[in-house]
Amino acid sequence: MIDNPHNGAPLVWLETYGCQMNIADSQLITGVLRRAGYDLAPRPEDADVVLLNTCAIREHAEERVLGRLGNLAQLKQARPGVKIGLLGCMAQHNRAALIAKAPWLDLVAGPDTYRRLPELLGHDGFDPAVDVRLNRAETYGDLAPAHADGVRAYVTAMRGCDKFCAFCVVPYVRGRERSVPPADILREVVELAAQGVKEIVLLGQTVNAYRCGATGFGALLRMVAAVNGIERIRFTSPHPADMTAEVIEAMAAEPKVQPHLHLPVQSGSERILAAMERGYTVGEYLELVARVRAAIPGVALSTDIIVGFHGEAESDFRATIDLIRGVGYDAAFTFKYSVRENTRAFRLGDSVSEADKTRRLEEVIALQESIARARNRALVGYEYPVLVEGPARRGGGQMTGKTPQFKTAFFPANDTVVPGATVAVRVASATSHSLLCTLI
Ligand code: SF4
Repeated sequence: MIDNPHNGAPLVWLETYGCQMNIADSQLITGVLRRAGYDLAPRPEDADVVLLNTCAIREHAEERVLGRLGNLAQLKQARPGVKIGLLGCMAQHNRAALIAKAPWLDLVAGPDTYRRLPELLGHDGFDPAVDVRLNRAETYGDLAPAHADGVRAYVTAMRGCDKFCAFCVVPYVRGRERSVPPADILREVVELAAQGVKEIVLLGQTVNAYRCGATGFGALLRMVAAVNGIERIRFTSPHPADMTAEVIEAMAAEPKVQPHLHLPVQSGSERILAAMERGYTVGEYLELVARVRAAIPGVALSTDIIVGFHGEAESDFRATIDLIRGVGYDAAFTFKYSVRENTRAFRLGDSVSEADKTRRLEEVIALQESIARARNRALVGYEYPVLVEGPARRGGGQMTGKTPQFKTAFFPANDTVVPGATVAVRVASATSHSLLCTLI
């Protein structure tokens, strides 16, 4: 335990960068530190410990963290007693460079070492405490995360990834696939239901690759759906190659599993998909989309697209445009390719110019916006049950929540519209990102 200038619990400030998995990891870290006697600081200036839970997936995310480390150098100079630690994927990915850049760091800890954080924070030496060992058995299934308040909670079902897509650092920084035992997941879900949570989002880097003994992901969906009090179930991110008939059947048969599927395609070019080592062809992906749409009427589809992967010619990019238009996604997360050290694609290089990447990204975004706008406008006049989340940030007496298809709905407040309630709304108008609704 560190010296505590507050005559109470030592205070920790934790910042999270990157994906939903990292947000869930931060809840796990908060749980570990709370049990060790720490409390949360209201501001970094008040903290005894400042931790950055980092992301290495894209260059941009790393640059943000490096910039933040620059600010924290000043904090460390003003208060040398404050402990500053770097956690997560960047800690795992490039610890040597980070320690060289910020030799005043007190702690560098990878994603499989959070159990040891209190011990690592107790380390008092000239060099930082470093633990970046990957552990193929670590699921943290027995540790309770400190979930944020709200109607929706994120529950980690599996960690790591075995896919080794050519562009991705995840298998190297988060290690190999391992699934949290179903009993641990169910215990967490039952506790969340007792706290008033209505919607569970099962998380994993390739969540539908979940397998623990005889339990596959379809069976897990059905088990979570059997928990009283839980009304909605979602999951992210599935991998197209693991979207088995068992999973599609569970989605179709279980009303609590919501009709929305995030199905990352990355590219519409057969050649680029093969170079990315994604494990499916365009034809197989489109066939999967057709099967999902046939089994789950009204399902919403979203995706991830990377433009400018090494070797992507204009004709490959046009194939991606054709695929986006052909599928008609409800939403897409779009990225410019950035070379990541230690990945298989690192040695291939980066053949597409920054200007071409930017142009292609802008074209994809403009196309997807127009598709999403048209799809949302086609919903005008239809009714949906919406799980109320709370007041809309835009104010104006509006409340917000999600439709089953994970579309953001805005609607007027009244006495029955309280967080956790499900209300019926009718779509009055729509943009590419949201539905403006009336209460029924
Ligand atoms: S499936 Fe591919 S892109 Fe997704 S986390 Fe695994 S290696 Fe990365």
